[in-house]
Amino acid sequence: MFENSQESKTNLSELGEFGLIDHLTKNFSPKLDSTIKAIGDDAAVLNFENKRTLVSTDLLVEGVHFDLAYMPLKHLGYKAVMVNLSDIYAMNGTATQVTISIAVSNRFPVEALEELYSGIQLAAKIYNVDVIGGDTTSSTSGLMISITALGMAEEDEVVYRDGAKPNDLLVVTGDLGAAYMGLQVLEREKEVFKANPNSQPDLDQYTYLIERQLKPEARKDIPPLLKDLDVKPTSMIDISDGLSSEIIHLCKNSKVGANLFEEKIPLDPAVISVCEEFEIDSTMIALSGGEDYELLFTISQDDYDKIKGNPNLTVIGHMTEESEGMHLVTRANQKLPLIARGWNSMEDKED
Ligand code: ADP
Ligand code: MG
Repeated sequence: MFENSQESKTNLSELGEFGLIDHLTKNFSPKLDSTIKAIGDDAAVLNFENKRTLVSTDLLVEGVHFDLAYMPLKHLGYKAVMVNLSDIYAMNGTATQVTISIAVSNRFPVEALEELYSGIQLAAKIYNVDVIGGDTTSSTSGLMISITALGMAEEDEVVYRDGAKPNDLLVVTGDLGAAYMGLQVLEREKEVFKANPNSQPDLDQYTYLIERQLKPEARKDIPPLLKDLDVKPTSMIDISDGLSSEIIHLCKNSKVGANLFEEKIPLDPAVISVCEEFEIDSTMIALSGGEDYELLFTISQDDYDKIKGNPNLTVIGHMTEESEGMHLVTRANQKLPLIARGWNSMEDKED
C-alpha cells in the first residue's frame, strides 16, 4: 500500500496541456439525457427541463485534505467525486454531472493522473453522473482537485437545512466514526513505515475503517428510499465534519434546539474495538470525527412509523425549542452541551 509502484513514467510535458486533457478525458462519454454537450466546447450545455438545478463545489488540497503517502490516486479521484455527490444527495436530489479541475506539478507523471482519472471514471459510472468538463493547470507545489457537482430535484422535493421544527425526530443514515478511525490507523502505519520501510502492515482487522476513509460511498440510495417510504425530511445535511457540527448547522439554520441520545448513535463494532485500542471515546469520534458522508435529517413525528425498523436509518434524537439549546444526553442521563469540536467534557465522563 505504501510503496510507489509507478513503473512507466511519462513526463507531463510530453503531452502538453491539450494533449493531456484529451488523454485524460477520452473515455468520458455522456450518458444522461440532461447532458446536451459535455467536454470539448467553451461550456457544457445541460437541460433540466422544469426541475430545480442543484450545484455544489469542493476544493481538495494535497497536505490539507489528503496525503498521497497512503491515499492511492485512484481512491483520491473516487473520493473527490463522492464528497461532492454527497452534497447533492443532502439536498434530496439526484446527482447528474461533475466538472473536474486539477492543478498538478510536473512531479506527477501522466500515469499518476491516469490513476486519478480511473477513480473519477469509476465513481461516475457507479453513481451515474457525466463528467462534463473541467480545467487543467500547473501547480508549483502540491496537487489540487476542485470538483463541481450538478444535480436536479423536483421543486417540491428539495430539502434545505432550515426546515426542522421542535419535536421533529433527528435521523442518521449508516454508522459514524469509521472514516476518522481509518485515518488514525493509516497515520499510525505511515509512522511505522517511516521507521521501518520493510515492515509489512497487517491491516485485515481494520478493513472496514480503511475503506470508509479511502473509498467512502455517498448515500445515493437515500433520496429514492425516502421517496419510496413517502417521507420528505424537514431538513437535511451531509456529515462531512462530524455529527455534532452538522446537528449545530441544522439547529442554527432552523432556529431550533436538539437532544441527541448517546446510546442511539450508530457505531460499527470495528469502530468500538479500534477506539478501545486507541483509548479514545467512541462517542467523541462519532461526534467530531468527520468524513462519514452519511446523511443527517429531521422528520415529522407523524412519519416515524414509515421509517421504523429500516436498517439504513437510526433515530438518534429530537429537535426542541431553540431556547432549550443543543444537548447530548449521555448513557448516564447527563445533559451536556453539544459543541462542534475539541469536546473535552467527554474525557471526564464515566460510562
Ligand atoms: P478553455 O480554454 O475554454 O478553458 P480548455 O482547453 O481548458 O478550455 O478545456 C477544453 C475542454 O476540456 C473543456 O470542455 C473543458 O471543460 C475540458 N477540460 C479541461 N480540463 C479538464 C479536466 N481536467 N477534466 C475534465 N475536463 C477538462
Ligand atoms: Mg481551461
